Amino acid sequence: MKLTERFLRYVSCPTASCEANEACPSSEGQLALAKLLVMELQEMGAKDAHMDENGYVYAVIPANTEEKKPVIGFIAHMDTSPDCSGENIKAAVKLYEGGDLLLNEEESIFLSPKDFPSLERNIGKHLIVTDGTTLLGADDKAGIAEIMEMADTLLHSDRPHGEIRVAFTPDEEIGRGADLFDVQKFGCDFAYTADGGTLGELEYENFNAASAAVTVYGTNIHPGSAKDKMKNAMTMAMEFNALLPADQVPEKTEGYEGFFHLVGMEGCVETATLHYIIRDHDMEKFEEKKRVFHEAGKTLCQKYGEGTFITVSTDSYYNMKKQILPHMEIIRLAEKAMEEAGVTPVTVPIRGGTDGARLSFMGLPCPNLCTGGENYHGRFEYIPVEDMERCAEILLNIACGA
Ligand SMILES: [Zn+2]
Repeated sequence: MKLTERFLRYVSCPTASCEANEACPSSEGQLALAKLLVMELQEMGAKDAHMDENGYVYAVIPANTEEKKPVIGFIAHMDTSPDCSGENIKAAVKLYEGGDLLLNEEESIFLSPKDFPSLERNIGKHLIVTDGTTLLGADDKAGIAEIMEMADTLLHSDRPHGEIRVAFTPDEEIGRGADLFDVQKFGCDFAYTADGGTLGELEYENFNAASAAVTVYGTNIHPGSAKDKMKNAMTMAMEFNALLPADQVPEKTEGYEGFFHLVGMEGCVETATLHYIIRDHDMEKFEEKKRVFHEAGKTLCQKYGEGTFITVSTDSYYNMKKQILPHMEIIRLAEKAMEEAGVTPVTVPIRGGTDGARLSFMGLPCPNLCTGGENYHGRFEYIPVEDMERCAEILLNIACGA
């Protein structure tokens, strides 16, 4: 029950990040949670627990053995997604006995296995849910609670372990979590983010990612006398989009399949811009997709005139697999830790990025571990207490297993 109380305490601090705020952290709530975590770490006896000037929390759990062991890090993020309300969260623990689970009597909101089949494997467990009007914030407060529980256990048990370091980061959900992370100071041989979902998930492959845009320059003229003179930038932009492979979009791809995703468009007759994100796990296919994108612009320039289509692309992050492959022992360690906890590890490719991916490229190999939560970033987010406990046990097994 201690872990659940801990989790609910963190959930009660609203910490949605805010894209529009350039400060770090981007919201006051994150600072309040950071201060609470530092205080708790100090109280449990962690060494050097502190928050830096950017709101990152760091702490050390000293080794309790003379044996030479690697320094292992555990990382979770303090913010919650701004995509769904995270204010005034009314979390509740409910025994799930199958069928529809009532979340909110007044508004008659139910959590149903028809919408969320993951419920089927959680019959008989205690689910932590919301009242159906806000997110829960298990992403990533479950990760924080599990790491804190592990730290507390390590500091009060004789189970031998090497030096363990923990860090809690701000603003992961708005893509800034790794920006000001001090890898040097953290001083770990390798680390894990506890920021995944379903129990058993172990992730070390993510997308290669780029943002891209095409700006189209047309020519406006009175529509009454436009014949053979007008170039409508907006219809030209649609022509550009039609040159991209129609089946390589998020709504038609899964697993290792990459995509072009149109995320925004604005325009008038004179000028139009289309914004895209480009994703692929495979580096060669990723490069090919960017080539296809720029090629589409060149092809249409031949039709409409030089300079009518300007394409740009910027790489955002890369697949961490390349950085993890030389250190597969850290994946084996996590798999062994899961098996010891009675959990079957499942390696899944992430169809997105993680802070760990960026940290891996900053020199800290950093795969991602499950936290047990489901339906992230939405009102139907939930986490089974039993799975959360199992995840904390996995962290403990990793800490003591190297
Ligand atoms: Zn997360």
